[in-house]
Amino acid sequence: MSAIFNFCAGPAMLPQAVMQKAQQELLNWNDQGVSVMEISHRSKEFIALTEEAESNLRQLMEIPDNYHVLFMHGGGRGQFSAVVNNFLGDNGKALYLVDGSWSQAAVEEAEKLAGKDNIDRINIVESIAGKRQVVIPELTQIDKDYRYVHYCPNETVDGIEIFDNLNSPWPVIADMSSNILSRQIDVSQFGLIYAGAQKNIGPSGLSIVIVRDDLLALPCLPQSSIMDYRLAVKNDSMYNTPPTFAWYLAAEVFSWLKSVGGVAEMEQRNIEKAKRLYACIDELDFYVSGVAAQNRSRMNVTFQLTNSELDGKFLAEAQAAGLVALKGHRMVGGMRASIYNAMPLEGVDALVTFMTEFAAKNA
Ligand code: PMP
Repeated sequence: MSAIFNFCAGPAMLPQAVMQKAQQELLNWNDQGVSVMEISHRSKEFIALTEEAESNLRQLMEIPDNYHVLFMHGGGRGQFSAVVNNFLGDNGKALYLVDGSWSQAAVEEAEKLAGKDNIDRINIVESIAGKRQVVIPELTQIDKDYRYVHYCPNETVDGIEIFDNLNSPWPVIADMSSNILSRQIDVSQFGLIYAGAQKNIGPSGLSIVIVRDDLLALPCLPQSSIMDYRLAVKNDSMYNTPPTFAWYLAAEVFSWLKSVGGVAEMEQRNIEKAKRLYACIDELDFYVSGVAAQNRSRMNVTFQLTNSELDGKFLAEAQAAGLVALKGHRMVGGMRASIYNAMPLEGVDALVTFMTEFAAKNA
């Protein structure tokens, strides 16, 4: 079979080297004679794996010592509920900035759990000269006592990314499901970062939470124990049986990231990949991006064909050329190429070649 490049938004492609290693050791992990899926999460071998995973993630993201790293269940949406349950007891209030579909889903969940009166929201995307652009209000001017401000720095469906940090008087909670580990960030600017694993980390279901320890003193709502950050901290993310195979794969992805040069190297590669793809979209009249240049996601490149009648043909021919999962999200239509850390530059080059040829043939 010739090379397939998988542009799926998630679950997304994982690094080939990781998949091959997992395949090799599937039936006999670490000389145990059994699979990593078949051993106790409390065995010393598995605990060693989790300690190394955490240590590697701490190095990769330069996570300060006053932050806990948790490996939890429930993916990204699980965290939509967890942050509310963990921080909004006593009628505490929170502010949600909405920059696309996922931050919209997060605020709806928060309203459901904490009540609409306790949740404020501000839409931060404007249409300027026909392009969607993020305009963040001056948060320091808002005279309110919020427990936190929540936002999504990379909107997977809309292809909108926010590169600047918020200037916030309250702890910042960020849903980094689709851009964690894609570029260097200053973790100390955040109160809590969470991410569903299925884009830049590993299989779906797992979520990573990085939380500053003082936030855990805030009053919490009654909640299920597996959503409780304090219990997760106390039990080293093993209050109940964790998703061990996903954790193992995440550990392998972290090792792979270190071996290829860490997040700084990834960021350079991601900048180059995005640059080549957006250049193709901008240079050919055949394609259009609806997002302003400064907010174009490096991970999820959304674009439309100027003649949408050709969408089906584009997708079919791309698929035949080994370029799969380019259809935009059902809510927004058009195309989306997700180019996470595991997508090699050759994948992007193959897509650019295909798009250029398709435009020439169908002009
Ligand atoms: N947040 C973002 C930014 C996402 O992209 C996704 C999933 N694509 C989610 C949350 C929800 O994740 P999950 O399906 O794991 O609940």
